[in-house]
This record gives sequence, structure tokens and C-alpha cells, in this order.
Amino acid sequence: MKETSSTYCGECLRDFEPCEVVHYTWTENRCFCHICKSIMNTRSKPSWLDWQPRKVKG
Ligand SMILES: [Zn+2]
Repeated sequence: MKETSSTYCGECLRDFEPCEVVHYTWTENRCFCHICKSIMNTRSKPSWLDWQPRKVKG
């Protein structure tokens, strides 16, 4: 799994935990927590968001 240097969620701005698995979408070019991923899936097609897992740097 690729790592991300993002330190917080692009939607709710919650700080990520070290080594947390988060969700990247190229459409926003940033990472989001699990809850915000679910919310965004109701706004846009998940297939279009093309979510990829990313591991936060520890
Ligand atoms: Zn979030």
C-alpha cells in the first residue's frame, strides 16, 4: 500500500492517526477518513471517485 504524507482529512479536518489506513481520490487529490468517504460516495459515483487505500506515515 502506498503511503500518504497527508496528516488530516480533507473533509472533516480530523487529524489522522499514525499508520491509519485512509482513502485517497484523485478527483480531489487528497485523502479522507472512512466516514467522509461514505458521505462523498452519496454525492458522487464511487466508481468515479476511484478510491485507493493509503497508509498514513507513522
Ligand atoms: Zn473525515
